[in-house]
Amino acid sequence: MNVRERMSRANELLSPHATPHEGVLGRVFPEELDERFPFERDRDRILETDSFRSMAGKTQVFVKRIAEDYRNRLTHTLEVTAAARGIARALKLNEDLTEAIALVHDIGHPPFGHQGEEVLNELLRAHGGFNHNVQGYRLVTRIESPYAGKQGLNLNREITNGMLKNGLKDPMTGGTVTHTLEANVVDACDRVAYVAHDAQDGLISGVFAADRLRETALGRDVMERVGTEARAIRAGLLRVLLADMHHASAATLETDAPRITMTDAMAARREELYAFLKANMYGNPMVHAKRKEGQEMIELLFHAYVAHPPEEVLALEQRLHCSRERAAADHIGSMSDYLLLQEAGKIA
Ligand code: MG
Repeated sequence: MNVRERMSRANELLSPHATPHEGVLGRVFPEELDERFPFERDRDRILETDSFRSMAGKTQVFVKRIAEDYRNRLTHTLEVTAAARGIARALKLNEDLTEAIALVHDIGHPPFGHQGEEVLNELLRAHGGFNHNVQGYRLVTRIESPYAGKQGLNLNREITNGMLKNGLKDPMTGGTVTHTLEANVVDACDRVAYVAHDAQDGLISGVFAADRLRETALGRDVMERVGTEARAIRAGLLRVLLADMHHASAATLETDAPRITMTDAMAARREELYAFLKANMYGNPMVHAKRKEGQEMIELLFHAYVAHPPEEVLALEQRLHCSRERAAADHIGSMSDYLLLQEAGKIA
């Protein structure tokens, strides 16, 4: 059976609301099929990028130098991917497309997480700002260019659309971004995965005790069932949230208005847990101090690169026909936390 026949067989197993294996929107440059399904091939391209690997050294919440035991951007990504594939499979959506979007969803984050993004956005205020979603899109459509004479990874547009916010204008085609259900699965699973794993990391780090987590309805319910061990709590939270998402969404897939959703009650519980983490973890002074240092180093390096650009920045500026400031941010954005501190150390 050739690849087209295999795709058509596989399509028969999908929900009528799923994206078919051959895709609908296509790639920027048409390509011959190989033995892999197109979204599978996209996944391989994403995995092979420098940007994907550098997520291993990038902050999720805890800066790595505090400990080696917490999530980084890559392990977060893998957990989101696992959850999203599970939901996609349960709903008979396209698992390959879901996996590819999940693996690439956070690829545009600079070092030092949201604080890194904030400071770059500030530094680029007069040059269009800096946003991790837009940067991710820029990475896979322009910066990562493994093919001679072509720009970007030439991914299917279902994937690049999934990297931008729904309803935005696609900078490449000018069309309006419309998300597939598979992109919605990734988005929903991202929000579920991080509250669950951040609860675990918060407990392990001691920024809050298990008893405090009982202040939230979700924490209380899960701990009644699984006890106070951090990993068990993460697994319990994830199970409850994903089961609700699966059932609530499955009901809509029987209608002509399919969507990825949760029951109102569970969505409110997730919000409550998120608010708890925000108050007790994301803004914790210990966590914050490390990221503040990261921000200062980004600023230092940015100004140094604009004034005295290294070869990498000059090369980006020329190849992408962009401002020096943008090229400096591209280069800084590609660094791991550690590399950034090392490079800034040479200047400071
Ligand atoms: Mg994420």
